[in-house]
Amino acid sequence: MKGNLIKLKLVCLILVMATTFFCGVRPAGSIGQTGHLVVAEIASMDINETDYPDLVKILNTFESERGCGSVFPDWAWASLHQQYSEIAHTVEFQQAWADYVKVNFPPLYTMSKKREIGFLMGITSHTFGDPPWHMFFLPEAEAHDNADHGLTEIGTDIFANWELGKRQEVTHGYLPATTAVNIYSIMGYPEVTESMLVKGMMELQAAIWAEKLVGYQGYLNLVRRMPWTDDNYVIYSPGGFEYDAEVSALEMVNTWNYIQGDLDQLLPADVPVFMEKNILIELGKKLIESGAIEIPVHRTEQGEYFFGEPMILDRKSFESVVWGFEF
Ligand SMILES: [Zn+2]
Repeated sequence: MKGNLIKLKLVCLILVMATTFFCGVRPAGSIGQTGHLVVAEIASMDINETDYPDLVKILNTFESERGCGSVFPDWAWASLHQQYSEIAHTVEFQQAWADYVKVNFPPLYTMSKKREIGFLMGITSHTFGDPPWHMFFLPEAEAHDNADHGLTEIGTDIFANWELGKRQEVTHGYLPATTAVNIYSIMGYPEVTESMLVKGMMELQAAIWAEKLVGYQGYLNLVRRMPWTDDNYVIYSPGGFEYDAEVSALEMVNTWNYIQGDLDQLLPADVPVFMEKNILIELGKKLIESGAIEIPVHRTEQGEYFFGEPMILDRKSFESVVWGFEF
């Protein structure tokens, strides 16, 4: 990994985040769900396997766990309790999760603890991938293509879905619910329950699934509507997916060193990121609530959830929800 360059980028990013915060401008936005899956995957490839063989193995073996962690902080955006998503976007939340893993799951790791670590790495990628996308890429995309935040987010997700092969796939949904409930409690939100988290994660999974459908309807129009975004969402620096992944990779390594006891502390605390609702998550929520689709779910005794692929349950509701979706 190009360590020093990335460290420099990270320092610049933190400075910009701090400046933005203190100027009173709240960042509002984030990468879409497919974008997070892709960023976490590229980040895994950025980490040097010779230096971190065990970490790379976990990231590559538990792709779905990594992917589900990488979307997890958005779980409550479509609910009435968005503060739970806001807090999940902060460095303090990521730190609390890393502390929890460090204390409760010391090496040597069992299979289920490796899943937990894959998930934590995904959260790390979300926490550090969102801000550069929003601060550096989004304004350029909006200016070049005259598109707003929502459209840019949908556009990049749908481009990623159709142009980056299988990177958007999550073979199964995963949620370490016992851990998540404990983290929320530690962060001062003991009212967050397992069933709330499960509902939110199902909505995200439905959203990822539904992106492919609406992308099928809209891909070619979006290519024409947002040519700059399509040309640049991966490579633009700073803020494109590859850049966001470099920053993520650095922080994944830090988090790994921290839970191993090789690093005394993670980054000093910086600022929370606030974001708007994502209409694709709203779509996922509607698909579930209308009874249009069903997601098979299995809970283990240890409080882990595994979700299967969504299935269409009621075709009429499904049609009316999907055809009613506009972007
Ligand atoms: Zn987010």
